[in-house]
Amino acid sequence: MWHPMQVAAICETLGAVARRRELAQHGVDGRAVRRAVASGAIVRIRSGVYALPGLPAPTRTALRHGGVLACVSVARQRGLWVLPIDGLVHVALAPHGHAHPHADCTCVQHWNELGPSRTEVTLVDALLQMRGCVGEDAFFAALESALHQRILTPLGRAELRDRITESARWLVELARSDAESGLESLLRLRLHRLGLELHAQVQVPGVGRVDFVIGDRLILEVDGRDGHDDEPSRHKDRVRDAVAAAHGFDTIRFDYDLVVHEWHLVEQAILAKVARDLHLEPWSERLRSA
Ligand SMILES: [Zn+2]
Ligand SMILES: [Zn+2]
Repeated sequence: MWHPMQVAAICETLGAVARRRELAQHGVDGRAVRRAVASGAIVRIRSGVYALPGLPAPTRTALRHGGVLACVSVARQRGLWVLPIDGLVHVALAPHGHAHPHADCTCVQHWNELGPSRTEVTLVDALLQMRGCVGEDAFFAALESALHQRILTPLGRAELRDRITESARWLVELARSDAESGLESLLRLRLHRLGLELHAQVQVPGVGRVDFVIGDRLILEVDGRDGHDDEPSRHKDRVRDAVAAAHGFDTIRFDYDLVVHEWHLVEQAILAKVARDLHLEPWSERLRSA
């Protein structure tokens, strides 16, 4: 007689997911499976498919759908920074696979060769899917987040570079491993498209550390996430801006929501400042000596 935990152990060796016929191949009969489900040692995902309990809800949904977790859902689950997009479950089905109808299905489907995992696609596959599915910006920010957290290895990065379509390879080459926030990644990419370079955490003479410097003389500070809203720190910000101005820097302040959701406003403001400064001497020397 099989103990429920023995059935769970077999399920685990199979990769956290087991089909009824695979359990049968191990000699586990239907009665033992039912007992294991009743005891909570395994859970029934859909007809003939069982899994270990404790898989995250999106993973269970992907399995119920007949595939594995994919795309932006994998990025979220791995703790990568993801642009606030839809909260839908993205599922990958094998080329010959088919979707299983299930209650409340709002899954986004991908089709590709599945890797060794029975619960999710590889991180490289997930990133490749993201670029096509949720766009360059979300892809790039998730990629830098994966590099920063060392979740994507140098080998993984090389694989990504090889497999990504040639017209998008520059995104992999532009990505850095020292971006400290998704916001920084977004800014770097979007400014790069405008031909502007972003420097993060810059020491500006007379002012101290600022969030970002665009080009040579434009300070970009992003407020709102660390209590800039009270009176004393508002005053401190004004003082900083005044000191920066005295040293020839312009400061623009935005908050997170503006950068993420209303980028066109931020872009217009930056471009207007840059255009106005074009006739002035570059200030690179001052920055370099800082
Ligand atoms: Zn997707
Ligand atoms: Zn579904």
